[in-house]
Amino acid sequence: MERATTSASSEGEFRFKVVLLGEGAVGKSSLMLRYVEDKFSPRHVSTIQASFLSKRLDLGDNHVDLDIWDTAGQEKYHALGPIYYRGSHGALLIYDITDKRSFEKVKIWVRELQRALGETAVLIVVGNKLDLESERTVDRTEAIQYAKSVNAEYVETSAKENLGLADLFEKISSLMIDKWEKTRE
Ligand code: GDP
Ligand code: MG
Repeated sequence: MERATTSASSEGEFRFKVVLLGEGAVGKSSLMLRYVEDKFSPRHVSTIQASFLSKRLDLGDNHVDLDIWDTAGQEKYHALGPIYYRGSHGALLIYDITDKRSFEKVKIWVRELQRALGETAVLIVVGNKLDLESERTVDRTEAIQYAKSVNAEYVETSAKENLGLADLFEKISSLMIDKWEKTRE
């Protein structure tokens, strides 16, 4: 059978768009830079040249090109335009485990995403800054329950210490492949 859509051009070859969403300073840009270029800066990552960075993953017989889209700071004004969301196959809803307010904001981003895309994208709620465990203010169990309630997976990461990132992007890639396969049944 021919596979010809924007997300899978030939057998086992996929290209997916993943958007990063979350309050300013939760570590969206840091997470992307650490994962794609293995870099970390202790300062705010203010400007990224491109609106997205790409990374290729091999998952057994499947090969995935991920286009990871970062905001350019417009998230502070809740002013991400429709182009940001358009065609997304997955979304990472990121908060900072030491910042309760950033967790509450995830709930707003989920609603905004669903308004823009319906239920078409795979969602993962991401608790970042896991290296600051001793300053945690968001209970992990509560976050897991919330993620379940919106049909999302839950993962914790540290962009600073490179914890959980490879697993996170492998997980979202596998889920996007599964979802894509299901839509073809
Ligand atoms: P963004 O506004 O969501 O893109 O956040 P940034 O990536 O600019 O990060 C905001 C601040 O949090 C910067 O000072 C980062 O160095 C810091 N940061 C990002 N990720 C982590 C992390 O995993 N652990 C710690 N301790 N700091 C982090
Ligand atoms: Mg940023």
